[in-house]
Amino acid sequence: MKVAVYPGSFDPITYGHMDIVKRALKVFDHLIILISVNPSKEAFFTGEERADMVREVLKPCIDKIEVITSNKLSVKEAKRLGATHMIRGLRAMTDFEYEIQLTQTNRVLDKDIDSVFFMTSNKYSFLSSTTVKEIALFKGDLGPFIPKYIEQKIKEKLK
Ligand code: ADP
Repeated sequence: MKVAVYPGSFDPITYGHMDIVKRALKVFDHLIILISVNPSKEAFFTGEERADMVREVLKPCIDKIEVITSNKLSVKEAKRLGATHMIRGLRAMTDFEYEIQLTQTNRVLDKDIDSVFFMTSNKYSFLSSTTVKEIALFKGDLGPFIPKYIEQKIKEKLK
């Protein structure tokens, strides 16, 4: 069975992340979504809230995924969880620069875990969780970017 870890903040999950999950599941049998919880980095949602949202919106493929939160190095977690690869999503050239650095660093930390990149659909190539939070703050239309369930959770949080 081919197992991969998809690490990220997912604060919150967007259609862009979901697009990458869908593509990765065509190649890997099982995907572990690793929600990075960094105590020194302020997040909008708690790790558990982010995990619940991921589980909810990925219900249609829940038998092929697992969602866990972690405050450890992703590459170490990948090894511990029995994954052979790490999934990353690419939007634009700006992601590419950062991802190269990250991949090379991870390779030094563990040469056995390789990174695999999927390019998102054009329509999500500008989308990030940060953009979503900004649109929410200014009460813009979130329909094209996140599922209704996430929109509801953001609204509750902003109350
Ligand atoms: P962000 O806060 O930038 O949205 P995350 O840390 O949650 O990012 O991202 C985890 C992974 O998912 C990264 O590889 C990131 O490039 C990717 N990703 C995030 N948004 C998208 C998107 N719209 N399309 C494709 N990949 C994405």
